[in-house]
Amino acid sequence: MPLLTDDQKMLQETAESFLAEEGGPAKQLRHWRDTGCTDGYGTDLWKQFGELGLTGICIPEDQGGLGLGAVEAALVLEEIGRNLTSSPFLTTAVVGARAIEGTAHAERWYPGILSGDAVLALAVDESSRHAPEKTAMTAERRGNGFVLNGAKQFVVHGNSADAVLTVARTAGSPGETQGLTLFAVPKGIANVESVTLADSSKAARLRFDNAELDADAVVGEVDGGWAPLSRALGAGRAGVAAELVGVAAGATAMTVDYLKQRKQFGKLIGEFQALQHRAAHLYGEIEIARAAALKAAELMDSGDDKADLMVAVAKAKAAAVSKLAVQEGVQMHGGIGMTDEHDIGLYMKREAVLGELFGDVYFHRNRVAELSGY
Ligand SMILES: Cc1cc2nc3c(=O)[nH]c(=O)nc-3n(C[C@H](O)[C@H](O)[C@H](O)COP(=O)(O)OP(=O)(O)OC[C@H]3O[C@@H](n4cnc5c(N)ncnc54)[C@H](O)[C@@H]3O)c2cc1C
Repeated sequence: MPLLTDDQKMLQETAESFLAEEGGPAKQLRHWRDTGCTDGYGTDLWKQFGELGLTGICIPEDQGGLGLGAVEAALVLEEIGRNLTSSPFLTTAVVGARAIEGTAHAERWYPGILSGDAVLALAVDESSRHAPEKTAMTAERRGNGFVLNGAKQFVVHGNSADAVLTVARTAGSPGETQGLTLFAVPKGIANVESVTLADSSKAARLRFDNAELDADAVVGEVDGGWAPLSRALGAGRAGVAAELVGVAAGATAMTVDYLKQRKQFGKLIGEFQALQHRAAHLYGEIEIARAAALKAAELMDSGDDKADLMVAVAKAKAAAVSKLAVQEGVQMHGGIGMTDEHDIGLYMKREAVLGELFGDVYFHRNRVAELSGY
């Protein structure tokens, strides 16, 4: 696990106290769920992210950002996971910012991201399984632009995003990475159906029926969309791994607290060695997952050619550990863990969605095998 610099520790402390104070379930997740918020997150909180400079973590300094990297994003995302904070930080400040980096769209969208006004989403999945190279949606050249046909689903925040980064095929066939193009699709172009996911976050199903788009919507090069898409997915997968570590750590902290409070059979249940062993096992697994997530982020930041492999290791490990942590959490809480009143179940729901996002555990294990030459 990389040792954090003083600046990184300061950022971690800022994110830790800010999100523990403002980002917890009572103020955010439950509040927006129970008031039926169509965005699924608070825009005021998103602006606070901006005021603290957190929205600019992945934005270069000469464009007004902090010019930091995946490690710093991971530190914030772990705290977001720990507090189950509903926010577009991952989709916008990490995935979106990375996708448009170095393109004309950076100038258009970075100011709004920095101030916490703009929200971006990434539309990649077309079926229930994550498979970016199998993109079948088409974008045909017509006049000075493109005509889009096809559909996307599980577009997290796609219902409220100011622009949806959408990958479509301008050449080649499904299965090929060549011939894909990434478009920044502004609001009003796609037919949007809002969907509530298991963790109460909002996503969208998008349908494009002969939807017309100007040529300047292209992000990067026509037929060269795999490059910005890979950049965005790499950042997103490393980011979700860190958020999953936070989910696992938050659920386990809540469970250990409960083991120290709940009395049964005349003593605290945490005094039983069988439960202590399960808690100790979780502690070890979470440390391994955190080390993997930070290592993946560090390799991405240094441009190491093993970065993709480590990102897949991290996403697979963090998803598996997080699943174990939330299952153990609900089980050790007993009956109360099954009620909506208790927060432990919310960790299970968040894990269910983050575990799928940008490739589930099977997708990433397969990727580890392929990248290792099996
Ligand atoms: C970000 C995100 C959030 C999501 N949130 C929700 C949610 O809130 N609620 C919800 O219901 N769903 C959600 N999903 C979808 C969910 O994860 C499943 O993908 C979906 O429910 C399964 O759909 P399906 O019936 O088409 O099954 P399939 O994906 O077709 O799978 C059916 C079964 O076959 C197995 N299988 C399929 N293909 C393979 C293969 N190639 N190799 C091995 N086994 C295979 C699967 O493991 C599964 O057991 C989410 C997905 C994403 C990406």
